[in-house]
Amino acid sequence: MVLDDLGESLRGTLDSLRGKSRIDEEDVDEVVTEIQRSLLQADVDVGLVQDLSEAIRSRSLDEEPPAGTSARDHVLRIVYEELVDLVGDSMELPLEERTIVLAGLQGSGKTTTAAKMAWWFSTKGLRPAVIQTDTFRPGAYDQAEQMAERAEVDFYGDPDGDDPVQIARDGLEATADAEVQIVDTAGRHALEDDLIEELEAIDRAVDPDDTILVLDAAIGQAASDQAEEFDRAVADGVDGVTITKLDGTAKGGGALAAVDQTDAEIAFLGTGEGVKDVERFEPSGFVSRLLGMGDLEQLAERVERAMVETGEDDEEWDPEDLMEGEFTLKDMRKQMEAMNQMGPLDQVMDMIPGLGGGIMDQLPDDAMDVTEDRMRSFEVIMDSMTEDELEHPQSVGAERVERIARGSGTDPETVRELLQQHQMMDRTLDQFQGMGDGDLGRMMDQLGE
Ligand code: GDP
Repeated sequence: MVLDDLGESLRGTLDSLRGKSRIDEEDVDEVVTEIQRSLLQADVDVGLVQDLSEAIRSRSLDEEPPAGTSARDHVLRIVYEELVDLVGDSMELPLEERTIVLAGLQGSGKTTTAAKMAWWFSTKGLRPAVIQTDTFRPGAYDQAEQMAERAEVDFYGDPDGDDPVQIARDGLEATADAEVQIVDTAGRHALEDDLIEELEAIDRAVDPDDTILVLDAAIGQAASDQAEEFDRAVADGVDGVTITKLDGTAKGGGALAAVDQTDAEIAFLGTGEGVKDVERFEPSGFVSRLLGMGDLEQLAERVERAMVETGEDDEEWDPEDLMEGEFTLKDMRKQMEAMNQMGPLDQVMDMIPGLGGGIMDQLPDDAMDVTEDRMRSFEVIMDSMTEDELEHPQSVGAERVERIARGSGTDPETVRELLQQHQMMDRTLDQFQGMGDGDLGRMMDQLGE
């Protein structure tokens, strides 16, 4: 994931502040140096990095931390707020009928993004359709058709047609039942006149609610120039941007920050080649995940999806409950059950406070299987525990560990590992909760936006 490196190194630096109640210049400099290094590596503009460093430095030293806040949490909160500011706002996309035109250079990921966005809208209960008008790139029709099939969404295209505007018109009519119509357009290697003409003609024919520019993250900070060029070239301008291929480049941070410098806002992030490798851009969730605070919003969304897919809809459990009250083994179990349904374990782990980034990276390559096996044995163990033990795992002493191990056909070592894992997650949540009610409330509000 983007800026992974920043998250990891920063967590290390911030951890060295643990236990300190006051922060001095040296501490702040260390944090700022770490941030600068990572952001510059991620191709964020030097001027932006300087502004951000200055803001973090002066706020950390000048602002009085709320009572009871440790030095670490004080700085973490400031870094969080400044990074949210750096990546900018998310493009508004009300969940209602709309027509969207995708524009961008060839290879930026438009066709893939059209299917991904359609899939995303379908998970929100809207009926989407993809309309493929790219008559320029050979193979675009087949690719779009296949991806729409994988996304299980309506599709229109004309493999023999050579007039993109006519295809767009026919497509809108043919998919009139769809609530969200996504029109994919042809790209070129550069923003040439005929690309602009074609986009404008389609724009007139379709009259979209939103024009979304698709940008490859690998262009880094050049994203702002490209976004501005397209914005000027297209009559009604660009409303939003989707940044693709964040999984394959270290320059994503530069692209994100650069888009914030333009009038356009980011709508989606592409994180892989599959139709489900997409996420709605949520600045606060994105940054909290980056900083290892877990992204409760994304997690909640995935859990919801997993519950629907398994037909298990547990109204008693809400991931946001994690932020309140005690974190019991039952909560942990719910998380694990949901995770089993949620695919890429490492991505899910990244969203859970305390399991973010670092831990997964430290595992050997084949550790993922072991981890999934371990999750299964954890579940068996929890089946052998009493209600009381699940609610109060701290009360489980050595004797009970033996009994649970025998009852579940596992060994005491694995039972202890389960308890340790729970303790670690519990501690991390406590720490997050301990950031002070005001801060936390505000963060949760932002997550919920
Ligand atoms: P278009 O020419 O703009 O329609 O671009 P395509 O949708 O054909 O994408 C170009 C290439 O980038 C294809 O090989 C896609 O599989 C790949 N691609 C698109 N989005 C992503 C992404 O988010 N991650 C990765 N790894 N590859 C992507």
